[in-house]
Amino acid sequence: MASIVVFAAHNDDHALAMGGTLALHYKRGDQVTTFVGSFGELSHPHLRPEVIRKTRVREAQKADRTLGGDGRVFFLGLRELKFREDFERKGYPKKLARRLRELKPDRVFVPTPDDTHPDHKAISTLVLAMLERSRLRSEVYGYRVYPRFSTIEAPRLIVDVSAAYRKKLDALSAYRSQIRFFSYAFTNNIVFVYHLVRDLFAGFLKGTRFAETFYKLR
Ligand SMILES: [Zn+2]
Repeated sequence: MASIVVFAAHNDDHALAMGGTLALHYKRGDQVTTFVGSFGELSHPHLRPEVIRKTRVREAQKADRTLGGDGRVFFLGLRELKFREDFERKGYPKKLARRLRELKPDRVFVPTPDDTHPDHKAISTLVLAMLERSRLRSEVYGYRVYPRFSTIEAPRLIVDVSAAYRKKLDALSAYRSQIRFFSYAFTNNIVFVYHLVRDLFAGFLKGTRFAETFYKLR
């Protein structure tokens, strides 16, 4: 049984970029621990923050159960666009390093540090710096969240997720506040379509139906 740790900035980033890979890990009986940076209150400025928090936590739990987990997702409660400040202030460099020493992850997944969204970029660089300081030997892989067409200078890992793709799509349908046509968060639909095309294209390159791509960062 492998131990897998995933860091995401928002409640749906990891499901979009690696839902199939996560479903395969769950199916193998691996232990998956997911940390989500923020509650994502800025996604719906017309709603009260508590309402958004509750909704986005519930969505992440539901998606995790759909992928095969027990629905446990840890929210770090970082304020959007203030990740760096809050990460330090809440003592996460030490707290998370301690937690990771207990979890002994074989693999850690973070967004790629060149992501164009400031929070995706921030959680990536903060976790990479934390891992660098701690003496953890885990492999680290980056996943893409926002569209970016330049290639990153790192070895690629391509996972055939055809067998788990139905689960990925079902998990994504849990994010009703984020991915829904004609919803407020319209740009998220574009990100969703980007991931579909990306997974199809990676699948084509690998000679299968759907694949998810990662970059080895450490
Ligand atoms: Zn995000």
